[in-house]
Amino acid sequence: MLLTRLAEVSREVAATAARSRKTALLAELFRETAPDDVPIVIPYLAGRLPQGRLGVGWKVLSRPVEPAAGPALTVHETDARLTELGKVSGPGSQAERERIVGALMGAATADEQRFLLGLITGEVRQGALDAVAVEGLAQATGADAADVRRAVMLAGSLQAVAGALLADGPPALARFRLTVGRPVLPMLAHTAASVTEAVGRLGVCAVEEKLDGIRVQVHRDGDTVRVFTRTLDDITDRLPEVTSAVRELAGERFVLDGEVISFDADGRPRSFQETAGRVGSRTDVARAAREVPVSPVFFDALSAGDHDLLDLPFAERHAALARLVPEPMRVRRALVTGPADAPEAEDFLAATLARGHEGVVVKALDAPYSAGRRGASWLKVKPVHTLDLVVLAAEWGHGRRTGRLSNLHLGALNPDGTLAMLGKTFKGMTDAMLEWQTARLKELEVSDNGRVVTVRPELVVEIAYDGLQRSSRYPAGVTLRFARVVRYREDKRPEEADTVEALLAAHPEVRR
Ligand code: AMP
Repeated sequence: MLLTRLAEVSREVAATAARSRKTALLAELFRETAPDDVPIVIPYLAGRLPQGRLGVGWKVLSRPVEPAAGPALTVHETDARLTELGKVSGPGSQAERERIVGALMGAATADEQRFLLGLITGEVRQGALDAVAVEGLAQATGADAADVRRAVMLAGSLQAVAGALLADGPPALARFRLTVGRPVLPMLAHTAASVTEAVGRLGVCAVEEKLDGIRVQVHRDGDTVRVFTRTLDDITDRLPEVTSAVRELAGERFVLDGEVISFDADGRPRSFQETAGRVGSRTDVARAAREVPVSPVFFDALSAGDHDLLDLPFAERHAALARLVPEPMRVRRALVTGPADAPEAEDFLAATLARGHEGVVVKALDAPYSAGRRGASWLKVKPVHTLDLVVLAAEWGHGRRTGRLSNLHLGALNPDGTLAMLGKTFKGMTDAMLEWQTARLKELEVSDNGRVVTVRPELVVEIAYDGLQRSSRYPAGVTLRFARVVRYREDKRPEEADTVEALLAAHPEVRR
């Protein structure tokens, strides 16, 4: 496939607001895509490079190069050059990078140059593309869109499903089943402003305690137990006490969803930093496990025996969970039959906070498990408002902070996957955090005008704030009051950041 074709479709998809047109454009492109183009075409469409970071600065990229007269570059040639670029290191690497970028840009037309530049700097990221791509793939191959969506959710990868579908047609979808030992992306929650509001929205639901630990998906097949994080990393070896607790459970084959968390001697939860530090430590695991033991606490069952439970309502999945896991190893919960029970639900939140937990997650009892998605059927409620936002840029600090990147520019997701700046903050940062973020943001640098360093929008940061206020300065028409950094969320991808839409919905008091 020629790069020009991809550049053209990418531009047209971004330019049209009509979903049906986007789908048709992608379907047309997929009909022309050979299965071995898929590992390049899918990431490029989403505005990502298969190579990840290339370590090429704006200075090298922005040098003007005479464009080629006509399109001749293929996606494979482009990919090969970028792989070569990513491998450059050591003495003379700047000149070598200039040479490779120069050759690549010189082989590209002006239109392709623009596309490549956007791709390398991360500016053409289209986080919301997956959903439309699923429909495009279905249209191109004659598969059912719901089947493609389910396969993507189970594979945790659009690319894997696209490759199989384009090579073997719709029957290939049967290969993507929930399999014990192969993790699926976890279901995520939306935010609600209060428990009463959440219960009002969901009706018959469970109010569960929200533990501030590390999300885990635990797979057991006989004596083999594997533990995965929310980003699907295998952390089994770091959690010996979790694997042995899971081996004690009744069933032989199952997949459970839950949280691991560390409790102190009084049974109160330790801070997130302590639990995260423990789960993150890879050396001397036995000692770490003695000093900061963690406990698994489960809230969902995705499969039991040979039954895949994902499509069952939560009430039935929970019944399966209760058969496998004794009560002390499950999150506490209160069942609610509708809005009339809101006062009891509020009491449950108060009791949960008093036990030192973060808040609650309110869950519809009739909803299936939407792996990898923020279903509207899970609503989290925390007394302190926090948002996961993407760092767009950072300003060089003054005084004590000279030489450090300090004031962060923060963005939330628009429906089309672009980011809207919501405000700035330099509050809540420890010295260690300033040090860390300066180094990390320099790695993501796209440009530096001496005052502001613009970065590739890849780093997610959790921000606490006191409320919203109207603002004509920012594109969403609102900005955050007293925004402060809580912590960096390197376990989250920018596509998982909070959306402008959800933020406005959570603050009906601010009318645009
Ligand atoms: P957040 O990270 O703020 O988006 O909140 C969602 C996270 O809360 C999930 O990914 C889990 O790690 C965590 N969590 C804690 N308790 C629960 C629960 N009972 N149900 C679902 N998620 C929970």
